[in-house]
Amino acid sequence: MPAKHSVAILGGGVGGLSAAHELAERGFEVTVYERNAVFGGKARSLSVAASGVGGRKDLPGEHGFRFFPGFYKHVTDTMSRIPFGTHSGNCRDSLVQATRILLARQGKLDPVWVGRFPETIDDFRTAFLALFDNLDIPHHEVMYFVTRLLTLATSCEERYEREYEQVAFWDFIEADTRSENYRKYLGQGLTRSLVAMRAEESSTRTVGRILLQLFYGILVPGRVFDRLLNGPTNDVWIDPWRTHLTEQLGVTLVSSATVRAFNLTGDRIRSVSVERNGYVEEVTADFHVAALPVEIMQGLITSDLIRAAPSLARLGELRTEWMNGIQFYLETDEPLTDGHAIYLDSSWALTSISQRQFWRGYDLSEYGDGRVSGVLSVDISNWTAPGNFNGRPAMAATSREEIKDEVWEQLKAALNSPGPMQLEDRNLVDWFLDPDIQLPNPSTVTNLEPLLINRVGSFAARPEAYTEIGNLFLAADYVRTHTDLATMEAANEAARRATNAILAVSGVAAPPCNLWEFDIPLAMRNAQRLDQVRFRMGLPNLFALGGRGLAHDDPPAN
Ligand SMILES: Cc1cc2nc3c(=O)[nH]c(=O)nc-3n(C[C@H](O)[C@H](O)[C@H](O)COP(=O)(O)OP(=O)(O)OC[C@H]3O[C@@H](n4cnc5c(N)ncnc54)[C@H](O)[C@@H]3O)c2cc1C
Repeated sequence: MPAKHSVAILGGGVGGLSAAHELAERGFEVTVYERNAVFGGKARSLSVAASGVGGRKDLPGEHGFRFFPGFYKHVTDTMSRIPFGTHSGNCRDSLVQATRILLARQGKLDPVWVGRFPETIDDFRTAFLALFDNLDIPHHEVMYFVTRLLTLATSCEERYEREYEQVAFWDFIEADTRSENYRKYLGQGLTRSLVAMRAEESSTRTVGRILLQLFYGILVPGRVFDRLLNGPTNDVWIDPWRTHLTEQLGVTLVSSATVRAFNLTGDRIRSVSVERNGYVEEVTADFHVAALPVEIMQGLITSDLIRAAPSLARLGELRTEWMNGIQFYLETDEPLTDGHAIYLDSSWALTSISQRQFWRGYDLSEYGDGRVSGVLSVDISNWTAPGNFNGRPAMAATSREEIKDEVWEQLKAALNSPGPMQLEDRNLVDWFLDPDIQLPNPSTVTNLEPLLINRVGSFAARPEAYTEIGNLFLAADYVRTHTDLATMEAANEAARRATNAILAVSGVAAPPCNLWEFDIPLAMRNAQRLDQVRFRMGLPNLFALGGRGLAHDDPPAN
């Protein structure tokens, strides 16, 4: 029997664990080196240290809540191959569907989106209008925004690559010239809350494709917008995954092991320097998969590496921003809505999930001091805007309490008026801010794990999952993927692409990993074909002409 090819995977987040899974299933001998004591990277959940009293478990915390939009296919496919629970269950069974999205605004009745079932382009126009028409935005501006969405929905791939990649979403929807509510809700709010990026600098290619997939999830029959885990992330996904990798697939997981350098001989990686317990070890393997976050990878790039792999030369141009979670533990549960809440007026771009209703098998009285019966998990996506109440950016906070207080006030402002109070101070038992946020001194708040943002034109700077170095591959959320947004889905897709590239160079005869493209409604797909012809003739998209495009004579899809 031929010796197994060895693979060193550097980084144990979703990208690294996904690569380990795919490669081990195909007969490779895999070792994963992870800096932290725990695996899962930005997707991990955490326990709130020393919060459990009287023999109870520590309260469950998250780096940020986990949202699995309906269009995800890669990461959920991997989850379906992780045994979990009884009766041959798996981790994909841990996903539960959410049916509502609450758009919470200060002092306003909060619209709630539910599903509609359009088929033709005109149906989509009507359905899009229904989504946005109750946000106190002038009707003609909503019409304009919807026409821009239809332009995106009917544009061919080449137009996305050549035109939309070069335009900020903010400019694409002409936010500068519109009303305040248009800018706030459709410009900033939707992009920040749903795509976790700033419309002013994010590429229309990324924002447009993802927003459309999310809206199709709401509007197209048989699709879902939102899926959430039915327990803390590590309990129902990452821990069973670790067990499966080590016990069934023979993967070696090495924690508290920090990659310090890539060492080259000629044009190949000779070894990787990995520090453990104060000692540096030279790790050697047939293949190396860097599954490190972009800001760490940037620090490891040397001129030697760029000489051998020119496609890494522009990695330094990629930028990150902050997005982190905070949890509020409530004595009386406040379900809010059966899914996401988006706080459109919050200057820190808050979104939340009220977890208890989804954590069906969990008895929260077994955690903390026994008083907690609800967990409101909140993501803060804007760390640079002044707070609505304290007037200061989260990034400039001088204490963790300052961040907590401002988030709590922003939530209350959106949820407590008009109508019954949903959040009351006396209901708050405890809270937990992501420990990645560190306040070493009053002027410099540090975030240990920022998140990549796809700025205008950044696609060209991002590398493929393979490099010009024959034994170096990449599996992280910044790699070029069809998903094209820093998410668990992109990290998993990148890992599949890295695996397929290793299969190709190693000559190992195993089936390649599946890769999927986005599902596009038939009516849009037909229009995209026409747009491809127009694009090649140098003509604009039909909807970009400002008219009704194809909507008036669009036949029903079948
Ligand atoms: C608050 C927040 C909420 C989010 N919510 C969602 C969501 O709902 N849905 C979604 O799809 N995505 C979400 N994301 C994005 C998603 O979590 C990430 O895009 C994805 O997890 C990235 O996976 P990765 O493996 O590429 O990188 P990472 O998760 O960063 O993994 C890299 C790993 O490398 C390790 N490492 C770093 N340096 C070294 C070193 N020198 N040596 C060894 N190891 C090292 C890290 O500790 C980490 O474990 C969210 C992100 C944040 C920050």
